[in-house]
Amino acid sequence: MQIAIASGKGGTGKTTMSLAISHFLSSRGNDVTLLDCDVEEPNAGLFMHSGSLKERRVTTPVPEIDPSKCIGCGVCEELCQYNALAVLKGKAVIFPELCHSCGGCVIACSSGAMKERDVEIGTIFTGSDGSITHLTGKLDIGKIQSPGLIGEVKKEKKNHIGKINIIDSPPGNSCPMIETVRECDHVFLVAEPSPFSMNDLELAMETLDKMGLKYSVIVNKAKEGENELTGFLEKRNTEIAAVISDSLDLAVAYSSGNFIDLLIESEKGEFEKIEEIINSRRRIVECQ
Ligand code: SF4
Ligand code: SF4
Repeated sequence: MQIAIASGKGGTGKTTMSLAISHFLSSRGNDVTLLDCDVEEPNAGLFMHSGSLKERRVTTPVPEIDPSKCIGCGVCEELCQYNALAVLKGKAVIFPELCHSCGGCVIACSSGAMKERDVEIGTIFTGSDGSITHLTGKLDIGKIQSPGLIGEVKKEKKNHIGKINIIDSPPGNSCPMIETVRECDHVFLVAEPSPFSMNDLELAMETLDKMGLKYSVIVNKAKEGENELTGFLEKRNTEIAAVISDSLDLAVAYSSGNFIDLLIESEKGEFEKIEEIINSRRRIVECQ
């Protein structure tokens, strides 16, 4: 069972929710793994109390060009969607830092001038906090291949019946988010009632609609009497998974890193609603 926690915009409380949902589900007897796929800025691990972490370096294939075999036909340059290839003075050159490792140019080059070599892009850290296993993908500085690393984090902890993977997604709705939520059984979008958050939420919802994924929205940092965001979601017929109140006590606890128990205790009813959505998705998925 793969559950992604995503958001259209950063800073809405996505990682906070990933941590709290993981701890809540674990306290209810579930076998939970938390995967931090926000690989450019992973911080869920900062709030996990683990001992030593296991590390695995991750590589991705990047093409190399043999100039003696290149006939300068330009097929690879035309094919590359990321402008990582150019033909200069009759020979192809590659800008490896722009390459997304799709492998297309290697297949398309009929002269056999291209082969792939493995390049390191990041590290996966694995640890456990009580009964929760957690995995963190961390992209190396200067690398752009986040989807490749995200795919490796997800592969490391495959989908198993009876187990729940909570996946902290990168914010936004570009390639890294799409790679993270792809094939997930349900997505919770975390949004706060601010104009920026609502605009980006709408874009994220459009992306998930196009991908045909099931999702619901967690309204976070809701002020007393707030109804702009909830009204918008109701009008759009979008399921509201939970409404988490804005709280000064929580903000203070967050700054000291000890917010999870307080959040779960003060919003227990809302986390029970989230649990019910996950359980109902689980019943459907396990029947399929
Ligand atoms: S497709 Fe092959 S032969 Fe043609 S320009 Fe690219 S590397 Fe050279
Ligand atoms: S592998 Fe894909 S992204 Fe990389 S250079 Fe070739 S076509 Fe471009």
